Amino acid sequence: MKRIAVFPGSFDPFTIGHEGIVRRALVLFDEIIIAVGANALKKSYYSLETRKEMISKVFRDDPEITVDHYEGLTVDYCRKRGAQYLLRGLRTAADFEFERAIAQVNRTIMPDVETVFLLTVPEHASVNSTIVRDIIRSGGDASIFVPAGLNIHDYKGEDL
Ligand code: ADP
Repeated sequence: MKRIAVFPGSFDPFTIGHEGIVRRALVLFDEIIIAVGANALKKSYYSLETRKEMISKVFRDDPEITVDHYEGLTVDYCRKRGAQYLLRGLRTAADFEFERAIAQVNRTIMPDVETVFLLTVPEHASVNSTIVRDIIRSGGDASIFVPAGLNIHDYKGEDL
């Protein structure tokens, strides 16, 4: 059976931290679906379409990686896509506590979806989308924090 993982997130924007987790997970799974959560209540800086476009560009040469979006519960989306694994990245103890609660609740709701955590590399431990957004909004150069060749400054964000 094909091992399919969903990597869910806001990806507002997608960073080198996210990219690192996905590329390292490629040895574990046959297919990884990067799923942008479309949350009507959570305003994003980059539109859903822009975020999907950026991520698709990063992985345009990787046929095992696809990009999609979803609304509602992540585990429902996993079931819909036939994914047996949920992939998440961990940076800090705070991430762990947050992720632990979500993973345990998800397991209660849907025991056949296993959450798999990968610990980030030390160089990416302090990279997060909020800081990258703040740099961009303030007119700084955030290109070292996003995947190579993304040209993040070509994409327009929306004022929050
Ligand atoms: P969410 O809103 O679901 O937290 P994010 O886009 O912030 O979405 O993150 C998606 C996933 O990527 C989460 O599992 C998060 O812990 C992980 N992640 C974010 N930044 C990094 C990083 N620098 N290194 C490793 N994992 C990361």
